[in-house]
Amino acid sequence: MARNIGSRYTAHQILGRGSAGTVWAGEGPEGPVAIKLLREDLASDQELVGRFVQERTALLGLDHPRIVTVRDLVVDGNDLALVMDLVRGTDLRTRLDRERRLAPEAAVAIIADVADGLAAAHAAGVVHRDVKPENILLDMAGPLGPGGAHPALLTDFGVAKLIDTPGRTRSSRIIGTPDYLAPEIVEGLPPRAAVDIYALATVLYELLAGFTPFGGGHPGAVLRRHVTETVVPLPGIPDELWQLIVQCLAKGPASRLRASELGTRLRELLPMLTGIPPLEVDEPDGEPAADAYEEAPTLPGAEVRRRGAVPLVPGSAPADSHRDTHTSMRVPAPDELAGGAHGTARAPRAPGQRRPGSARNRAGARSGAISPMIRRRRVTLAVAGIALAAAVGLGGWLATADGDAKPPQRDSRSTSTGP
Ligand code: ADP
Ligand code: MG
Repeated sequence: MARNIGSRYTAHQILGRGSAGTVWAGEGPEGPVAIKLLREDLASDQELVGRFVQERTALLGLDHPRIVTVRDLVVDGNDLALVMDLVRGTDLRTRLDRERRLAPEAAVAIIADVADGLAAAHAAGVVHRDVKPENILLDMAGPLGPGGAHPALLTDFGVAKLIDTPGRTRSSRIIGTPDYLAPEIVEGLPPRAAVDIYALATVLYELLAGFTPFGGGHPGAVLRRHVTETVVPLPGIPDELWQLIVQCLAKGPASRLRASELGTRLRELLPMLTGIPPLEVDEPDGEPAADAYEEAPTLPGAEVRRRGAVPLVPGSAPADSHRDTHTSMRVPAPDELAGGAHGTARAPRAPGQRRPGSARNRAGARSGAISPMIRRRRVTLAVAGIALAAAVGLGGWLATADGDAKPPQRDSRSTSTGP
């Protein structure tokens, strides 16, 4: 069913839905376009519309072959729409859902493309803030690159920033997707370019492993892991590639590479990745959300943490990030249970090996003697968790203070957060 957007554009067919609205394939005076119609509750927010118009220049000014070009911005009655170049292909999430893991060469080629796009944006002072497979489009009409990868383009620039402005009283504030959020965001620091590098390294890990390094279970647990946990090594990739991933997943933003350097370094690695098949990493179990509390001690105030278990999208059931994260819930490694090193993360299992996250194993772990060191660690984590939950809870309370909030329309794959 065709629909007019302003006087110049017609939307024909839905291409996809994201957290901010619906993307249509359409037609404009200069040919085919993609039109993102923002959700009604966003489009009717005068303050937000004002900011879109203000940022028009920045949005329209990003011109790079690895960034989906925004051509126009239409404010028409109740409609607020971004008109973009139409990318003929698919998004990276769809490809990942289909293939589960990519061969390292293709994964690295795609991420190098996105790093190039980010470098241009960062040079223009724009931070993306929502880098994830859903926002990476693969241009099937473009030439095949290394590993048979189609050119990748980053979309959704600046939208997260526009929507996520402190003080918004509507319920729809979007702050990103838990699996890809850099630790400094979790700790409340302003998001700078390095948050995009962290998110992109997370996507690279996900393309290789089939799951994100810190995803799984309740979003609050995911956020906590970004701050406290160490990434689990992936067997079977060259050490140079692993070192790049580790560096870009550094907890401290200053330790991460810049986008331009990341792009260059990844391309340098391409020749050594030729012919390496997708990794064989056993995907962790889907975890019941309750497992997110396994490290919670029985401390007074522990219920504060549970109260903080707000659905990150108001109006929905308390979220868990299974749908878009390929759960990788953390369980204590054997040496931790024996009082070993702090922050040692679980190693990926060989195919067929017993899943350490299985109910029986966890029950066994919990019923065993807990060393004072682990106990201390749990208390530390819980204190961090309580602080985090209080922050999330407060955000949720502020957001839902607006009584007429509508549940946002969202991509079934998205766990975008809107406290
Ligand atoms: P949101 O901001 O709501 O997350 P996105 O811009 O990420 O929306 O778009 C949602 C989906 O629509 C994408 O995952 C992709 O499948 C499709 N899409 C977005 N932009 C384009 C485009 N320019 N060309 C083709 N498909 C697109
Ligand atoms: Mg999106």
